[in-house]
Amino acid sequence: MSTVEANPEVASNPVPELHDLELTAARDARVGAMTVRRLLPLRLRRSVGAWCFVDHYGPLDVDGVTGMNVPPHPHIGLQTVTWLLAGTVLHRDSLGSEQLIRPGQLNLMTAGRGIAHAEESPASHDPVLHGVQLWVALPDGSRHAEPAFEHHAKLPQSRLGGFAVTVLVGELAGARSPATTFSPIVGAELTAAGRPANCLLPLRPDFEHVAFIAAGRASVDDVELAVGQLLYLPDGRPEVLLAAPAGATLMLLGGVPLGEPLLMWWNFVARTPAEIATATAAWRAGEFGSVGGYQGGPLPAPPLDTARLRRPA
Ligand code: MN
Repeated sequence: MSTVEANPEVASNPVPELHDLELTAARDARVGAMTVRRLLPLRLRRSVGAWCFVDHYGPLDVDGVTGMNVPPHPHIGLQTVTWLLAGTVLHRDSLGSEQLIRPGQLNLMTAGRGIAHAEESPASHDPVLHGVQLWVALPDGSRHAEPAFEHHAKLPQSRLGGFAVTVLVGELAGARSPATTFSPIVGAELTAAGRPANCLLPLRPDFEHVAFIAAGRASVDDVELAVGQLLYLPDGRPEVLLAAPAGATLMLLGGVPLGEPLLMWWNFVARTPAEIATATAAWRAGEFGSVGGYQGGPLPAPPLDTARLRRPA
C-alpha cells in the first residue's frame, strides 16, 4: 500500500499514561479512495521494534465497486506486510511477482534498495474488504539489500486459552513463522473464535510491543481496547494478560527497539534527507522498474521539500 498524503506528518495524539502503558487513537488517512485508521507512526513513537507503520482498514463494503486501487508506487528501506481479515487483494511488483492474497495468508515484500508495486481488489472480488497494512523498517545493515517478494499461503498456528494464534512473522506461543525477517520482531493475530478467550501470553522481555483490535474488542492487561486504538507495552515484560469476547481479533506486534533514527517520507524509509531526495528523483526518472499488468499510470511522488524533512532522534 502507499501513503498518498502530500506530507504524511506524524500524528499529534495525546498520550494518556496508564501506568507504564500508552493508549493512543488512530487518525484517519487516505489511501487511494479508502479511508484507513493510521495507528503508527505517532509523534512520540515512530517505531515499535522495527514496526514503523500500521494501517487498519475496513471492514469496507466493496460490493460492485472498485475497492482497493493503489497504483504502482516505490518503496525503499522497508518490508511491507499485507494481512487480510476479509476479501482479496492482488499484488504486482517490479520483480514480476503477481500474487492474490486471501485472509490467513501473508504477502511480505522486502523493498531493500528499491521496488515498485501495485495493490488492487481483483476485478471479481468478495463484497467485503478488511485488513491491515504494516511496514517493518530494515536495519541499517540490511536496508540496501536486493528486493524480494514472498507469499505464505499457510502460517503456523497455536492455541492458547481459547485464542487461535497465527504467527505472521517471528515466533509466539510456540509457533514460528517461515517469513524472512531482518531484526528480532514478532507479528501475530489472536482470534477468539467461537467463544470468549483469556490467556497469559508469554512475551520476550527484550521486546517492546503494541496491540490493537482488528475486530470486536479486547482487554490487554485490563486496559479495554476498541477498534482504532493502539496500546504500547514497553520492554521488560515477561507476559501480558489478554481477554476477549467471542469473535474478537487482536493484533500483536513487537520487537527489540530498533535504536536507529528513521526518516520516513511518502513510501520511503531512510536515514537522511539526501536519501529521500535520491529515491524521489529515481522514481520520477522511472528507475524503479515497471509493474506489469496494472491498468493505469503510476503514482506521482508528492512535492518534496527537503528542508521540512527532519531527522527524528
Ligand atoms: Mn506500498
